[in-house]
Amino acid sequence: MAAQGVTPRSEDYARWYTDVVRMADLAENAPVRGCMIIKPYGYELWEHIKSALDSRFKATGHRNAYFPLLIPMSFITKEAEHVEGFTPELAVVTHGGGKELEEPLVVRPTSETVIGHAFANWIQSYRDLPLLINQWANVVRWELRPRLFLRTTEFLWQEGHTAHATEEEALEETLRMLDVYADTAINECAIPVIKGLKSQQEKFAGAVDSYSIEGMMGNTWALQAGTSHFLGENFAKAFDIQYLDENNEQQLAWTTSWGVSTRMVGAVIMAHGDDKGLRLPPRLAPYQVVITPIFKTDEDRESVFAFAHQVAEQLTAAGVRLHVDDREGLSPGFKFNDWEMRGVPVRLEIGPRDVEGQSVMSARRDVAGKEGKAPIALDAVATRIPELLDEIQASLLQQATEFRDSNLHEASSYEEMKEQVDAGWSLIWHCGTRECEDRIKEETKASSRCYPLDLNEEWSPEGKTCDVCGQQAFGRAYFSRAY
Ligand SMILES: [Zn+2]
Repeated sequence: MAAQGVTPRSEDYARWYTDVVRMADLAENAPVRGCMIIKPYGYELWEHIKSALDSRFKATGHRNAYFPLLIPMSFITKEAEHVEGFTPELAVVTHGGGKELEEPLVVRPTSETVIGHAFANWIQSYRDLPLLINQWANVVRWELRPRLFLRTTEFLWQEGHTAHATEEEALEETLRMLDVYADTAINECAIPVIKGLKSQQEKFAGAVDSYSIEGMMGNTWALQAGTSHFLGENFAKAFDIQYLDENNEQQLAWTTSWGVSTRMVGAVIMAHGDDKGLRLPPRLAPYQVVITPIFKTDEDRESVFAFAHQVAEQLTAAGVRLHVDDREGLSPGFKFNDWEMRGVPVRLEIGPRDVEGQSVMSARRDVAGKEGKAPIALDAVATRIPELLDEIQASLLQQATEFRDSNLHEASSYEEMKEQVDAGWSLIWHCGTRECEDRIKEETKASSRCYPLDLNEEWSPEGKTCDVCGQQAFGRAYFSRAY
């Protein structure tokens, strides 16, 4: 195995991404085009995202359940916008047990319909509300232009589904879960996402309104990293989700749904990676620390390994996820480069001299060269390494925030906006119409990302017109190239 690097990010961003996913052993293509095999290093990354989300869902009163993979075709057609939006992406099962099925079954693209069906049975009275459910599952949406983690035909995700007595409560829930997503993205993934309302064109098929968190990737393109939908009474009407209120009158429930998928892994790769490969936020990294023993003689080998295990024991007791790289026949330099490419936050070198001095040499992934290196005494590793991991987590968020802020622009004309979306996001007053969005996309390749919540205090403010077409503006929206 020769030491080889990834294509530098600055040279070819798309190839860099493909190289990183492959060489860092995150995932690979499956026999069926568009599907992916997630390897342990990539899956562990997802597991940490998953547990960060799951604990937040539980803390906000949600419970996990599981619904079937197969959904009767007739369910999908019950909500008009839903069927229109999802039909082109559906995988349909027509045969089972060697016979043609009476009714085709859809492999779930999302579960509003089958969960709506169950909710209609579970909900009888106002006492059954709110109903707060989450499901961890895989879904299938036929993908014509697949890219590992970013767009795959089958992907893993969670989908939250809730029902409420009132419109206000459902709206509150929609925004609460958007906040949960933003908190996870910022504080676990170190991605400074922007929360906003999607345009009517970009919203979920069947929703009244969709909200998203949008992250800026290393090439300034946007990535929608999570969505939360206010479904109004649309699915309650389609699936007859009704309850008896305090006055014994039948009422329709109000529902929401929200999801984050393995796309988030792609976001972490692209928000933090550099020319040398991955840079993983310590809170998500499968290995927060990798120890590389260095030795020449058998005698040294023994003492170096003994010391390395002493260090490892202390760190494990301090709750640090670590790995001792004891692979034979590879040089320390190769191992160091390899773990650097795989984005391990802290690498520790231990050689005979370190054993003598009872210390280790640490190197930060987020700070290149000598500046990122420092010796740590054995009796300090258990306190210093967790501190260092916190510092790296904060530094990645800060770097991503500075990068984002230097690429957020405001435009006051279409001409100005066209220049800005070449390398960044452009904030404009926008009318929100389909025609205008289509035109922008055709002429600039930029799409509407969101109407940021903190920059839009009211909708359709008087006297404000669209910077592109001149019609009444709906609000201020970010436009950019996007994944
Ligand atoms: Zn317009």
